[in-house]
Amino acid sequence: MVLAAVRSLCYPNEFMRLLVVEDDRALVAALYDGLTAHGFAVDCVRSAECALDAFGINPYDLLVLDLGLPGNDGLTLLRKLRQRQDPIPVLILTARGALSDRVAGLDGGADDYVQKPFAFPELVARIRALLRRGIPVAATVLGISDLEVDPVRFEVRRGGVPIVLTTKEFAILEYFVRHAGELVTRTMLLEHCWDESYDGLSNLVDVHVSRLRRKLEGGGRAPLLHTIRGAGFILDSRSR
Ligand code: CA
Repeated sequence: MVLAAVRSLCYPNEFMRLLVVEDDRALVAALYDGLTAHGFAVDCVRSAECALDAFGINPYDLLVLDLGLPGNDGLTLLRKLRQRQDPIPVLILTARGALSDRVAGLDGGADDYVQKPFAFPELVARIRALLRRGIPVAATVLGISDLEVDPVRFEVRRGGVPIVLTTKEFAILEYFVRHAGELVTRTMLLEHCWDESYDGLSNLVDVHVSRLRRKLEGGGRAPLLHTIRGAGFILDSRSR
């Protein structure tokens, strides 16, 4: 309940980490590869029980849910989440033609569904659409000072000049720009821009942030990304 309350306060400003609940190994691998390639942090579990455990540990921003699972099925998990007032957006994966599954899923509190086998661009578009809900259309291009970030088109510009970022750098920048002027800790970045497979002992965050800073501030452009010693980082156009 505490987790749900925290998420409802934060949503829709933090939305990059997905939980995938699917028991088909090949599909899990495809989902993981495809979604991480689009810049999402993705954790995958194979059962409803493992999903509940994962919810107790990590703050997720959207759930991709298969209905046919070993043990408790996806519908049971969905109902459990909604019973405890968890507002997380849920996209269900259903078998082609299984009208009763789609109806049961939507009645059970799912926000949308995709039929298997699905085209990946459609899945990503539906995920993005769910994550954008509640955000004014004009706010879908984010910005601070002369920096513009367009999460839908995957584009970044400074002073109108395009900047090419990797998917991970883009995910980090999107997180920063949604928290402009606020302290962002390394833990916050790890929780929202990486999945559980990261090596928590390395200086991974600092390496990515310094690469991102070089791209944003190279060529004598004004500093935007400030390191706060011992605390984290702040994206801010004011000098610090
Ligand atoms: Ca299944």
